Amino acid sequence: MTQFSDLGLAKPLLKALAEKGYKEPTPIQAQAIPVVLQGKDLLGIAQTGTGKTAAFALPILQRLAEDRKPAPRRGCRCLVLSPTRELATQIAENFKAYAVHMGLSVHTIYGGVKYGPQMKALAGGIDVLVATPGRLMDHMAEKSAIVSGTEIFVLDEADQMLDLGFVVPIRKIAAQLTKNRQNLFFSATMPSEIGKLAGELLNNPVQVSVAPQATTVERIDQRVLFIEAQRKRPLLAELFADTSFSRTIVFTRTKRGADRVAKYLNAAGIEAASIHGDKTQGQRERALAAFKAGEMRALVATDIAARGIDVNDVSHVINYELPNVPEAYVHRIGRTARKGKDGIAISFCADDERNLLKDIQKATRQTIPSFDRRNDKQLAAAAAVADKLVPAEKYVDPRKADPRNNVPSELRRKRNRNGGGGGGGRAEGAQKAQGRGPGQGKAGAKPGQKAGPGQNEFRGPKRQSATAEKRWSPID
Ligand code: AMP
Repeated sequence: MTQFSDLGLAKPLLKALAEKGYKEPTPIQAQAIPVVLQGKDLLGIAQTGTGKTAAFALPILQRLAEDRKPAPRRGCRCLVLSPTRELATQIAENFKAYAVHMGLSVHTIYGGVKYGPQMKALAGGIDVLVATPGRLMDHMAEKSAIVSGTEIFVLDEADQMLDLGFVVPIRKIAAQLTKNRQNLFFSATMPSEIGKLAGELLNNPVQVSVAPQATTVERIDQRVLFIEAQRKRPLLAELFADTSFSRTIVFTRTKRGADRVAKYLNAAGIEAASIHGDKTQGQRERALAAFKAGEMRALVATDIAARGIDVNDVSHVINYELPNVPEAYVHRIGRTARKGKDGIAISFCADDERNLLKDIQKATRQTIPSFDRRNDKQLAAAAAVADKLVPAEKYVDPRKADPRNNVPSELRRKRNRNGGGGGGGRAEGAQKAQGRGPGQGKAGAKPGQKAGPGQNEFRGPKRQSATAEKRWSPID
């Protein structure tokens, strides 16, 4: 078995790893660390939970320490782009823990918080900067961030970047970087657009992979329950009657749906909270902390909110609604079975979700064992009780209820390619970022589009209005 010491890591890193209690490298670490230490570009296909953060953080820290020099003012030596704030925070925490004996600086830049402290941190130069694309673009437009001196560029969760419409901002950021840099690119899945982006950004990369494309984590016990849409709530309560559902993440497609399910669970006596983009940072942190501490049996989350969140010992994942893209199914169920543990994933499937199930089974190349719970009289009676507990709202197809959660694939493709397209949708943050960025001439609104007046003008960073400060958005 490979040891960390076999990988050529320096003493301060080995010491930090021992203090963290890591005994041996995970497969992605064993494969990636030597490659990155050699200064080569890397294309890593791995999900969160595989140890991929340490796979790039450890060798990066070593390379920075081996060639010590001041970080460029208003810039950084290593830039890590992350799709969400939570993941950015987690990555930075990992870097800090591994760098504890090295004296290298690590900072995060993301939206929803004040600009001032970020500008101050940037001003002196940062060794490792972990940023979300939108806020970094703001700083670049303001010249409070100048990334041209970056020596190592990391793109994490590239497929999620695509889902959020961040491909254009990434191209813009990458265009400002020096050509003479090392590139590391990580993605759980490799849709063709992401393959294309990797081709543009990477230079003769070594490819390492710990799970074949879109393959479901094998250790997870998966089941599908066919159920009428209006009887999902009593079915959920029925599942929670089993105490082995000790730490369960329930996924919904929409923010409203997450709130409704959490409210119902609480009314049914099951401690639960929802996390999604409309919650404040404080609410999200409190909910996560309570869930991690075992004070709450259920966390109800949307895909984006749950992305990259590192919670150990998740006993079950329940897909209350199936996701619109098969890759999201893989990400969702990967929340359980972390760190070599087994897990159980149960998916509810109403009649109008059959096509989604078909797509998931096709992409993951499996037939998920299914059980038909339709026409169940007990559940029908329980549904009536549930309606009294928390009156059911009229059923609306969630895809139509919240367009932010469903960017039609055509529009998403268009935006990711050329930044065009109007309307709402998940890529809103990315579009904002594009609107703010410099050099907008070509990517601007075309005739017939719904672009608002002055959309292409940079209006300066968001000032701290009361709402801007409170609202959380995963795509800042
Ligand atoms: P990641 O895939 O980077 O999100 O890592 C998933 C979890 O595994 C994190 O909690 C890490 O701290 C942990 N981890 C990473 N590498 C190791 C290792 N070699 N041994 C034990 N735990 C690890």
